[in-house]
Amino acid sequence: MAGYAVVVELKDGSARKVTLEMLAEARRLAGDSGGEVAAIALGALAPGEAERLASYGADTIVHVEGESLAPYATEAHAAGVKAAVDRAKPETLFLGATSQGKDLAPRVSARLRVGLGSDCTGFELRSGDLIAKRPIFAGKAFAKVSWNAARPRIATVRPNTFTPLQPDGSRKAQVEKVSMPDVKARARVVGFEKSEGEMLDLTEANIIVSGGRAMQGPENFEILRKLCKVLGATLGASRAAVDAGWIDHSHQVGQTGKVVNPTVYFAIGISGAIQHLAGMSSSRTIVAINKDKDAPIFKVASYGIVGDLYQVVPLLTEEFRKSLKE
Ligand SMILES: Cc1cc2nc3c(=O)[nH]c(=O)nc-3n(C[C@H](O)[C@H](O)[C@H](O)COP(=O)(O)OP(=O)(O)OC[C@H]3O[C@@H](n4cnc5c(N)ncnc54)[C@H](O)[C@@H]3O)c2cc1C
Repeated sequence: MAGYAVVVELKDGSARKVTLEMLAEARRLAGDSGGEVAAIALGALAPGEAERLASYGADTIVHVEGESLAPYATEAHAAGVKAAVDRAKPETLFLGATSQGKDLAPRVSARLRVGLGSDCTGFELRSGDLIAKRPIFAGKAFAKVSWNAARPRIATVRPNTFTPLQPDGSRKAQVEKVSMPDVKARARVVGFEKSEGEMLDLTEANIIVSGGRAMQGPENFEILRKLCKVLGATLGASRAAVDAGWIDHSHQVGQTGKVVNPTVYFAIGISGAIQHLAGMSSSRTIVAINKDKDAPIFKVASYGIVGDLYQVVPLLTEEFRKSLKE
């Protein structure tokens, strides 16, 4: 019986970074309570992936196989997770607070009739009870949640919150195969479209450069794309820019966009409305560029530049280009 289990989020058969982050946190908690950590993988794994999961902290890989698991379908994956939970019997089950995890976790929790803590950013054990911290009221406050006696406790974990362990190639995991019957899914994902060239997904990005209404049109986002290129950053946007049709909704950060958690977030020509803050206020460092010194974004910013973005951003880009070359 595993103390903790992590549902592996796969992309082309390889675990996404959020999985490695959850394994690290599960390992830390398991270390405190002496439990084991299982990784639940659904569908085909790339060669060497089970070994990779072991090196990042999994003691057991519960590998669920079945025709219905590809392409992704909520009902099939929920049935797959249930089959794995029946096998591994974890006390606690983590899923990423990603598009997929947010789709899957409520279904799994309803199916197992257990509680779900969503979008958690911290965990602690108090006399054997797991307490999770989750941002509420658009990041203005934190709630601490615990679970009743039903097991497993399910939590979705905000990406970029925890740091993956250093991989240890000497760690080995036992692989347990679980097969599942065919599930008739009412809806399936038919494909993925890459939104912006080589940029990382917003939820996985370490650095994000976001533009708001002050960009005035789609053409001016080129200024931000140049900065992104120099920094290896991902491009984000406020809803004002998205609603104006200047940039695709997949770039929107905020309450009705994506919740991001990068190391550095640049808010450029963005006022800092509460709905925007809901998506980015947990970023480790926030850099705001705004010509209005009283803009609310400066209240959450670690660094602020009061100035016209059309002068400041090209200068910054040039300075970063020079210093990163050195
Ligand atoms: C239910 C609901 C959900 C919402 N969800 C979201 C969401 O997910 N994400 C989101 O972002 N918003 C969301 N909004 C909208 C939100 O309330 C704001 O309207 C929006 O965030 C404003 O975008 P903005 O900061 O780009 O524009 P503005 O508020 O217009 O701010 C533009 C800023 O640019 C500055 N500026 C202008 N020119 C320059 C220049 N040349 N150089 C530097 N600075 C300049 C101005 O001083 C100003 O501070 C939501 C609203 C509602 C009601």
